[in-house]
Amino acid sequence: MFCEIAARICVWYGQQQRDLPWRTDPAGHRDGYAVWVCEVMAQQTRIAVVVEYYRRWMARFPTVQSLAAADLQEALKLWEGLGYYSRCRNLHRAARIIVDEFGGEVPRTREELLRLPGIGDYTASAVLSLAFGQAAGILDGNVKRVFSRLWDISTPIDEPSMNEQLWAYARGIVESGSPPGAVNEGLMELGALLCTPRNPRCLLCPLQSLCLSAQRGTQNQRPQRTPRPSIPQFDSSAAVIWEGEPLSTRLLLVQRPSQGLLGGLWTFPGSLCRQRQPPSVEWPAYLHQVVYGSLGIAIAVGEKIATISHVFTHFRLQEHVFHAQIRQGTPRPIQVAACRWVAWDALENFPCPVLTRKTLARLRKS
Ligand code: SF4
Repeated sequence: MFCEIAARICVWYGQQQRDLPWRTDPAGHRDGYAVWVCEVMAQQTRIAVVVEYYRRWMARFPTVQSLAAADLQEALKLWEGLGYYSRCRNLHRAARIIVDEFGGEVPRTREELLRLPGIGDYTASAVLSLAFGQAAGILDGNVKRVFSRLWDISTPIDEPSMNEQLWAYARGIVESGSPPGAVNEGLMELGALLCTPRNPRCLLCPLQSLCLSAQRGTQNQRPQRTPRPSIPQFDSSAAVIWEGEPLSTRLLLVQRPSQGLLGGLWTFPGSLCRQRQPPSVEWPAYLHQVVYGSLGIAIAVGEKIATISHVFTHFRLQEHVFHAQIRQGTPRPIQVAACRWVAWDALENFPCPVLTRKTLARLRKS
């Protein structure tokens, strides 16, 4: 059956693949760095969004050497809005390791690839098969969905016991067909275009006569997943601290620590995060405490600007944002590490998370 699946996928993929900027060369004959960038960007992100980011990134950083030589802040700026910023930090770190330890060549073995920050089994397999034509099985969300339907798997696919079985299917298929890159990319493309999460288009599918779910009518019950607890809700607060009057020319940004949530990005001073608070909470007093505690700056908190909502992967956040000014007698925080007074028209130069951009958009409307 693996041979039959691989053969049908290759034929279908040859006819139906989408025209995407990273597919200028056939699968299996691509630049390792370009494949790596594209696969990292595509994790947890829709392809339509990735296309523009990929074009801009490759125009600025066309080679692993150009990325390694760049400042991380510039890379984060290009990544701004794509989320999961640790992916960008890891790409940058790994590029430097590749230049320092591999002579600027993306490694061609799984062991070496897995030693690089941010590269796991999926990305390693993508690079090995799509760039170097090796028969390395691939397993992303699309492929898992296809397999769960092909074999009508009733066990939740996120259970640890399923992992090895699904990887065995992926390896079995790619080792039975050729070229491996086309088999892998074809499986992912089938999941994206036909075997979609809802209402798969089975009548157009090259695997229909092999598919147990299609035969049993269980497509919409597959894949099964373990029910997840609902994501928690948090509150945070932020101060837009003006150098003079609110909405004057310069405001204060702080850079988040290089590791962790939004690492390396620039935000407004404040707290991130706190368990959902009752509406009666005294945000101005709390915000003053937080800013004083973290930066040593006494602020006078003024009018509320807005409550900004944002959904992260594992939680929802409501940020309560206030105008603020530095109290008389407090030294200017320009000396404090990772703090900058930024002119209004220079804000675009700083990599900021979407949450901060939403606040800036509100301020522009004021
Ligand atoms: Fe998915 Fe339908 Fe194809 Fe089965 S026949 S793999 S359910 S699209």
